[in-house]
Amino acid sequence: MVPFLDLKIQYQNIKNEIEEAISNVLENTQFVLGTEVAAFETEFAAYCHADYGIGVNSGTSALHLALLAAGVGPGDEVITIPFTFVATVAAIDYTGAKPVFVDIEPNSFTINTNQIEKAITQRTKAILPVHLYGQPADLDPILEIAQHYGLTLIEDAAQAHGAEYKGRRVGSIGDLGCFSFYPSKNLGAYGEGGMVVTHHEKYAHAIKLLRDWGQERKYHHILKGYNYRLEEIQAAILRVKLRYLESWTKARQSHAQQYDEQLINAQVQTPQIMPYSRHVYHIYAVRTTQRTALQQQLQQQGIQTGIHYPVPVHLMPAYADLGYQLGDFPQSELAANEVLSLPMYAELLIDQTKSVTHAINSFIGKE
Ligand SMILES: *Cc1c(COP(=O)(O)O)cnc(C)c1O
Repeated sequence: MVPFLDLKIQYQNIKNEIEEAISNVLENTQFVLGTEVAAFETEFAAYCHADYGIGVNSGTSALHLALLAAGVGPGDEVITIPFTFVATVAAIDYTGAKPVFVDIEPNSFTINTNQIEKAITQRTKAILPVHLYGQPADLDPILEIAQHYGLTLIEDAAQAHGAEYKGRRVGSIGDLGCFSFYPSKNLGAYGEGGMVVTHHEKYAHAIKLLRDWGQERKYHHILKGYNYRLEEIQAAILRVKLRYLESWTKARQSHAQQYDEQLINAQVQTPQIMPYSRHVYHIYAVRTTQRTALQQQLQQQGIQTGIHYPVPVHLMPAYADLGYQLGDFPQSELAANEVLSLPMYAELLIDQTKSVTHAINSFIGKE
């Protein structure tokens, strides 16, 4: 049996530290936006090479507030990809702005930078690339376009804690970077959490207000805000886990390398690493035109897999109002039909990765 993800082993390995961290918070009885949140903000911002970190209650809230801080609102347009988790698009929609899609580049699953300019209109306010699966989008051409057209660059780094673009940590390369600490992410809370990182004091200030009802001081509300606050217990847990993140990332990279090497002759396509990338393998996705059959066979052998994501957002009934149709983003549509995510987490054993690749290699052997 190879699970897609096993959060239990990780917990068992760090149980003592986690329980101490939680019990400290319980003793302090400061449960929301206290010293643990402040310390985690400083530590995670430093990890991202950013000046400011603002903790919030989810990655979705991070995206929503980053967009609001950038001044995005009704009548504006924000450029992103349809081959992403729905939250990227939902956050744009929450602001009243219109999500405008650009197709992905099929080797990296990230935004096709050659197609951004033709999506820009008078209303475009921001570009929101997604570092899908833990591999950075090609940020230099995007930065150039953003500068040329006066657009804000917001990174959806929800899957990319510690990923690097040309040696620089993602999240701190654009104007604002958004992270999720959903339990299954590379750095996961035991509940919900998120963070915006930035170099700009004005954005950090606005997001701090917006996450806590827009109040400058208690009961003095100068902005229409939200209850998007991060909990102390989650911050205390995340501080413990942040100390392990690099070693967990290296373990993921080593499993990915095992997969790459052992699938070299398989008829599935393994992930492509762009020359500018440090890929952190939130997801290790192979591509195959026989996905359903392969997934079923793996399942029969006790190997769990996932599909990230089976429906691109432009084809979701929920976003039919955007007016897109089948055929509008062929690379996103093809990827949605072909990707299959293999088991990936730091504590995977070599025997487990071997049984996964063995099963894949023998499936293809039957063709
Ligand atoms: C997980 C995720 C989000 C949303 O984060 P939550 O913490 O679940 O709200 C946004 N974008 C991407 C690409 C994600 O994977």
